[in-house]
Amino acid sequence: MSCRTGQTRIRKRLKYHRMPCFLPARFIIPFMLNVHVIDHPVIQTKLSELRDQSTDTRAFRLLLDEIAMLMTYEVTRDWPTVKRGVRTPMEETTGEVLARPVTLVPILRAGLGMADGVKRILSDARLGHLGVSRNEKTLLPDSYYAKLPPDVKETEVLLIDPMLATGGSAVYAIDFLKKQGVTSLKFMCLVAAPEGIDTLHAKHPEVPIYCCAIDRQLDERGYIMPGLGDAGDRLFGT
Ligand code: URA
Repeated sequence: MSCRTGQTRIRKRLKYHRMPCFLPARFIIPFMLNVHVIDHPVIQTKLSELRDQSTDTRAFRLLLDEIAMLMTYEVTRDWPTVKRGVRTPMEETTGEVLARPVTLVPILRAGLGMADGVKRILSDARLGHLGVSRNEKTLLPDSYYAKLPPDVKETEVLLIDPMLATGGSAVYAIDFLKKQGVTSLKFMCLVAAPEGIDTLHAKHPEVPIYCCAIDRQLDERGYIMPGLGDAGDRLFGT
């Protein structure tokens, strides 16, 4: 979807919801869509450092990892739990544990930069992988690699990618996961473009999006503005 199409669709939706259009989309979107912006001051400080063009590969890796770890508390806040008996050194009591196992699915390659941070909080999580690239003939997203746990549909799935830009890869990945029977799914990114949010929710409105910022728009090459550049290149030093 072109940048202009995305902006037009959002304006139309704002009109439909009778929302005041004088505010930038990033202030309005969280109220009308299933989008959660995690505006914790520590996360925002780290995100600003991450955006800085002078941040080198080493610092970029560390910051991405730390932000992913901190976001995980908020993203998992409403997951169901079940009661479980625990024997403390003192007596029997009842505790709570997550009701379902967790599967973490980074979209390759930049999603890998968030995986360790999330795993530090969800240390029992299984790790699936989805490689999505753009088919140069059709210009549509195409999967070049997919490996998921066999019981993925019985788990809570967190799909991770630092950037939600056009939304093409995220929509493709969610289509793929739903075909495997996944029903409990959240999408987690650092920076989202209004166009990407609109595209993702046009197809999968029930999938919550968690991000740390909604940026202004995409440029003509599909990069997020102001964004942070190419997350994969900055992460892997390519
Ligand atoms: N992917 C990136 O890494 N950065 C963008 O701005 C858009 C897509």
